Amino acid sequence: MLSTKLVVGNWKMHGRVSDNAALLAALVAGLPPSDALRVGVCVPFPYLAQAQAVLAATSVRWGAQDISAHLQGAYTGEVSASMAAEFGAAYAIVGHSERRSYHAESDALVAEKTLRALEAGLTPIVCVGETDAARAAGSTEAVVGGQLRAVLSVLSDEQAARIVVAYEPVWAIGTGKSASAAQAQQVHAFLRSVLAEKSTAAAAGVAVLYGGSVNAANAAELFGAADIDGGLIGGASLKAADFLAVCAAARASAGA
Ligand code: PEP
Repeated sequence: MLSTKLVVGNWKMHGRVSDNAALLAALVAGLPPSDALRVGVCVPFPYLAQAQAVLAATSVRWGAQDISAHLQGAYTGEVSASMAAEFGAAYAIVGHSERRSYHAESDALVAEKTLRALEAGLTPIVCVGETDAARAAGSTEAVVGGQLRAVLSVLSDEQAARIVVAYEPVWAIGTGKSASAAQAQQVHAFLRSVLAEKSTAAAAGVAVLYGGSVNAANAAELFGAADIDGGLIGGASLKAADFLAVCAAARASAGA
């Protein structure tokens, strides 16, 4: 377990300029300064500039929900990592299950995106997770291990120590059915062992977040598990009170 927790909101395709302003202002006002907790929000691309304007002088960081695997060029509709970095982004989610499933993103593509993020100075939040069918078939470790190893295989040891991993069981995302703390802990410990295959620095320093129906009611139990270093929060990141409650649970579990 790392000594600090990390909680990142994933707004998905939600937001309006006026609503975002209210949400971000409430987050800034509601988050006490803390060395024990880092907080970020991953917003739709058009709102990166707004996040930068509102959050630049605060402790809350911001990021993108995806980036292109390409540096630049004739890729209509894509946004590069360096473009997100120009707007002060700290994070880029890569390999979210919604991208893997609706946009057929392969492990190799997710690995390329991870590299582009790192090259641009962003922290990639690499998402891995099994479907309910895979879990029922006893393949959870094979699936998440394969997804993570595919990314680690293209990274140097130094790069591997700069990623964040998010374990997001597909069956728990947006369903209201979170993994239990025990289920998540088992997979997190396994993911840490996969990081250790790469390097001791990665095993010791990479935050492994849990995502999938985290809310104010279950956050404390999840964040109390030994290898859960924080959360990637979807639905509950859209309401300030809910997100602040999740952040408070993370702060409390870090002992601050
Ligand atoms: C997510 O989309 O990353 C996520 C974890 O969503 P939710 O919290 O809504 O399950």
